[in-house]
Amino acid sequence: MLPETFRCYLVTKDAAERVTAEMTRRPIDELPAGDVTLRVAYSSLNYKDALAVTGHPGVSKVFPHVPGVDAAGTVVASEAAQFRPGDRVLVTGFDMGASRWGGYAEYVRVPWEWIVPLPAGLTLRESMMLGTAGFTAGLCVDALHKHGVSPDRGEVIVTGASGGVGGMAVSILAGLGYQVAAVSGKPPAREYLRSLGASQILGREQVDDPSGRPLLSARWAGGVDTVGGNILSTILRSTRHSGCVAACGLAASSELPITVFPFILRAVTLAGIDAAWGSIPLRHEIWRRLAGSWKPAQLEAMAHFIDLPELPKYVEDILAGRIMGRVVVKIGDESTLGVPDL
Ligand code: NDP
Repeated sequence: MLPETFRCYLVTKDAAERVTAEMTRRPIDELPAGDVTLRVAYSSLNYKDALAVTGHPGVSKVFPHVPGVDAAGTVVASEAAQFRPGDRVLVTGFDMGASRWGGYAEYVRVPWEWIVPLPAGLTLRESMMLGTAGFTAGLCVDALHKHGVSPDRGEVIVTGASGGVGGMAVSILAGLGYQVAAVSGKPPAREYLRSLGASQILGREQVDDPSGRPLLSARWAGGVDTVGGNILSTILRSTRHSGCVAACGLAASSELPITVFPFILRAVTLAGIDAAWGSIPLRHEIWRRLAGSWKPAQLEAMAHFIDLPELPKYVEDILAGRIMGRVVVKIGDESTLGVPDL
C-alpha cells in the first residue's frame, strides 16, 4: 500500500530563474509513469546530481525536479512480471534524476527495464557506495579488457583519482593486479590513494603537458580518464602502442586538444563511456562483476554516509572538487523499510 505523500528533495526554479532546493512532501501520484515503484533505501551523490541540485539546465530543464541518478531499495508495487513486491533492486542512470524524478526521495517509479536485481554479494548500502561511480569505473575497466589491456601489458593511469569514479577505478584495477598510477590534485589524498592500491601518485601538472607535441614518450598501457581537456590529451599522447584510454568525464574540460598521431602511429584506442544508457545485458554483467571479483576491497573506507537534508554542503564540495571518495545518501533505513539490509 503506497502512502498519499512522500518525502523528497525538491528543486524549483522561479520565473527569474532563481533556484530553490528543499526537503518537502509531494503527493505520491506526482511520481512519473512507470511499471515499478521502489521504496528507496539509499541514493548517492555524483557530480551530475550536484549540477541537478543547483538547477543546471544540462541535467533537467523541467521544474520542479527531484534529482538523484542512483537509487537502491525494495519494490513496493509492480505491473511487470519481472519484479515483485519485496525484491531488492538498484537503478542507476537512464533518465532517472535527469529529465524525470530521481532517487532523492522515499519513492521512485521507473520502467522495469531500467532495474537491476540486487546481485548476490552486494547489500543495498554497498550497491550505492558503488552507484553510478562504481558502474562507470566498471565500464571503463571492461573497455580496457576488451582492448587487450591486461595487467602484464604495463602500468595504467587513472585521473581524478580521489573522486568517485577515479577512486573506484583505482581500487578495481589494483584488485585485478594492475600497476596503477593515480593522478590527483589533492596532496592530502596520497595516503587514501595508496590505501586503494595505487602504486604511484602523480600531481595533475605531471600529466598536463604544455608542449603541444603530437606524441610524448610512451608510458602507459592504458588509462581511465575522468577529467578530459589537456590531461586526457597528454595521456593519449603518452600511451604505448595498441593501448586504450577509456574517457568518461570532463571534470577539467570538455575540450580535447590533440592530433590524430596517437591513433594512426601507435594504434591507441580512445574508448568512450556512457553509464546512463547503453546495453542492458552489459549493465547486468558489470553489476554481477562489481558484486564479485571486481568488488573494491576498500569499498567501506571510500564511502561517507549523509542524510538528505545535509545535501547542500556536499553539493558545494563536489562542485569545488573537494570530495574524496563517495557520498552515500541515506533515505530510508532498515526500520522504515521493514526488512533488514542483508
Ligand atoms: P567527482 O567530483 O567525485 O571527481 C572528479 C575528480 O576530478 C575530483 O575529485 C578531482 O580529483 C578531479 N578534478 C576536479 N576538477 C579538476 C580540474 N579542474 N582539473 C583536473 N582534475 C580535476 O566526480 P565523479 O567521479 O562523480 O565524476 C567524474 C567525472 O566523470 C565528471 O566529469 C562526471 O560528469 C563524469 N561522469 C561521466 C559518466 C558517464 O557516463 N560518462 C558517469 C559518471 C560520471 P583529484 O583532486 O584527485 O585530481
